Amino acid sequence: MPADPFLVIGRGRLLRPKPYDGPLPWAILVRDGQIAWLGARADAPETEAITDLADALVTPGLVNAHTHPAFLGDRSDEAAARLAGAPYTGGGILRTVAATRAGSDDEIRAAIEDRLRAELASGTTTIECKSGYGLSTTEELRALRLIGEAAAELPIRVVRTFLGAHAVPPDAGSMDEYTKVVAEEILPAVAAGELAEFCDVFCDRDFFSLEASERILRAAAGLGLGIRMHADQLTRSGGAELAARLGATSADHLEQLDAAGVAALAGSSTVATLLPGPAIVMRGGLPPARPLLDAGVTVALASDANAGTFGAWGAMPLVIGLGATMLGMTMQEAVAAATTGGAAALGLAARKGALEVGADADLVAWDAEHEGAFGLNLGSVRPLQTWIGGTLAGATSMARSARPHIERNHP
Ligand SMILES: [Zn+2]
Repeated sequence: MPADPFLVIGRGRLLRPKPYDGPLPWAILVRDGQIAWLGARADAPETEAITDLADALVTPGLVNAHTHPAFLGDRSDEAAARLAGAPYTGGGILRTVAATRAGSDDEIRAAIEDRLRAELASGTTTIECKSGYGLSTTEELRALRLIGEAAAELPIRVVRTFLGAHAVPPDAGSMDEYTKVVAEEILPAVAAGELAEFCDVFCDRDFFSLEASERILRAAAGLGLGIRMHADQLTRSGGAELAARLGATSADHLEQLDAAGVAALAGSSTVATLLPGPAIVMRGGLPPARPLLDAGVTVALASDANAGTFGAWGAMPLVIGLGATMLGMTMQEAVAAATTGGAAALGLAARKGALEVGADADLVAWDAEHEGAFGLNLGSVRPLQTWIGGTLAGATSMARSARPHIERNHP
């Protein structure tokens, strides 16, 4: 592995995520874990170590801004029943809660680590991880702690989100009673332990009302946490307007969003995080990606990998492909949504998701020559090499004509 500083050079397509259009080969100087310089190889500063990526497609590391990895159990039977016509009631979340509460720390931590490894192996360099299958003070704090412990074992950058308001647990009485517990007991403990950067709420029919969601998110903001929402997924409940009004960093799902909701987001700084995986599995409609983009809303694409409505870990290459094939985005818009869009959805726009001077050197060389492969190959595009903060975090030994190699300059 080349020592920092080093040059990455290539003759292929470089998405920053806007395509690099200067002379070839291009070069990126990595120093102190950041991108220190980018331009034509002929103008690049000299370094001892050079990694040549030949004609491979190179993009920023992918940012998966919506996942739920802290759970045990299997609900694929529910998916089969739903796909055969049974309605989604959300009751299945409580089944996962029971399986997760019964698990040991080691079991849950190992499950999270496996899921993070799958993401890393498919080009995700930054990932958001939610709690939400514990639904009590003890269990939610445990989930956030175990996400942190799993993250500490791996180079992937993890952003933690507290999702105590994922469902009302059976032992909580009413939604109102549990909302009070989330806002007044669990949230202060999460903040005091510095166990999460964000607070999220599942705002929808049969989950949390607009009033309950606002109460929880205002409490979270008051404690210094960032806020985000599951909004307008199953019903057009007005979650997007609430997210915009509260200045949420992101409103996620939005399958039922209408023109008024698009306008509300367009007038705000809230990112629209779209999740084509569960939208397709749930058959409940697709989010209006094209109207959102045309209205100037910042759009992110994320996987929403979870226990019950989309179970694929390491699916971001597929998600990019679905953004184009199912949501009407161009391939470049889809790649941008999975990089700069995801970074914006996590409040990390200055450091992640773009190959710019001063950003973290998170980049992926793909076993592909053009971003069209994400749409053409649907899910099978894999990284050749992945760097996080300038450190090689994964490499394959795939035999490919354009297989990258490392050379050394001897002046
Ligand atoms: Zn979700």
